Amino acid sequence: MPRILYLIIASVVLSFNAQAQTNYKAFSPAEVNMIADADSSKPMRVLQITNYVDSVFLRMPSLEVKPDASDTILLGFINRLYKTVRDPNSLGVGIAAPQVGIPRRIIWVQRFDKEADQMPFEVYLNPKIVQYSDSTKLTMEGCLSIPDFSSEVKRPCSIVIEYDGLDGLQHRETIEGFTSVIFQHEIDHLDGILYLDHLKKEVYDQRKKDQRSNR
Ligand SMILES: [Zn+2]
Repeated sequence: MPRILYLIIASVVLSFNAQAQTNYKAFSPAEVNMIADADSSKPMRVLQITNYVDSVFLRMPSLEVKPDASDTILLGFINRLYKTVRDPNSLGVGIAAPQVGIPRRIIWVQRFDKEADQMPFEVYLNPKIVQYSDSTKLTMEGCLSIPDFSSEVKRPCSIVIEYDGLDGLQHRETIEGFTSVIFQHEIDHLDGILYLDHLKKEVYDQRKKDQRSNR
């Protein structure tokens, strides 16, 4: 085979591998406009399940984000997402990027398990749960995107997560207690899942249990 053919095949394989390793998609012009339409100290509008168009967006899976500490749009967005979860009108203990209409895998979580550090809010890029405990617990949950409602949800007590830092380094951490509930709730948002979906399963399980006991 001519040497040039080897080179062409090698370069095609290399570029295919490079694409396979990175699923990142840059912010679209519309997303950049949304992020930059106010300065980074301003909160963004939180999508509501009660609004039809918002509810469609809340159900969309989010894309991975490229960690880059020099990306000013990314930094501006992360800051505005933080301002949103800390805003008195949308105060919460966690928030996911798709809740403000930007479908990227970014979440902010308040670390109630870091009492010594005054329970700081921390940002996580591309978080995923790689392990769940067998033990489960019921915890009361609410959601910034689901107004005037809260309910108990059954979830695993502890999880192991992996995520990227802004510096591009990968991290792995075991999370327990209420903080693990927040992580599970926010990571669900990245896949278009709301805590109401867990309730449905519980209602279903309860009905089956009731049916069995009525026989
Ligand atoms: Zn939520």
